[in-house]
Amino acid sequence: MLIVLSGPSGVGKGTVRKAIFDQPGNDFQYSISMTTRQPRPGEKDGVDYFFVSKEEFENNIQTGQMLEYAKYVDNYYGTPLKYIDETLDAGKDVFLEIEVNGAMQVRSKRPDGVFIFLTPPDLMELKQRLIHRGTDSMEVINKRIHKAFSEIEMMQNYDYAVVNDEVPNAVEKIKEIIRSERLRVTRVMPDYLEMLGDSNK
Ligand code: 5GP
Repeated sequence: MLIVLSGPSGVGKGTVRKAIFDQPGNDFQYSISMTTRQPRPGEKDGVDYFFVSKEEFENNIQTGQMLEYAKYVDNYYGTPLKYIDETLDAGKDVFLEIEVNGAMQVRSKRPDGVFIFLTPPDLMELKQRLIHRGTDSMEVINKRIHKAFSEIEMMQNYDYAVVNDEVPNAVEKIKEIIRSERLRVTRVMPDYLEMLGDSNK
């Protein structure tokens, strides 16, 4: 099962994802993204991201090695396809944390994935968060606010909406979604069909 966590800029996707994977005993695998942005202090190559040059990233796009990619604030971000296919083929679930344009590419290529939209409790709080995020000019801040507000409308393309009021609440809700999704008849039935097939041999 492919699990995609997405949502508007500034909603706290990264924080929620880290909180999920900081907990022990997760039975799904995190897909490490590839990016052309510079590592932030403390970030490690191959752990937080695969940090690559623009040339390398574009080469990966051209050779069909990305499941999806997007340009976000002048840098490329994308999901390497190989890890996704290998992990799914091994029968394990994969978790992606990506921005909305990439999530829509995954939706069209892998419609059987589970698409979760992380949403802010209210838009004024989101605005405050974007304003307080860094030392950007008012022009850049306004662009980000505009982008985040227009991204909210993309909620309609997802299966679930999780309000990020408190990180532990959001984490629990996401885990509940994953637990329930595993019980869908369409996911459980193939095993039984196989057993029925075997018993008829
Ligand atoms: P940051 O630079 O703060 O680590 O990430 C910026 C944005 O890129 C976040 O919204 C994050 O969810 C998104 N992102 C991270 N990895 C990927 C990816 O592989 N594909 C896409 N489309 N977005 C990503």
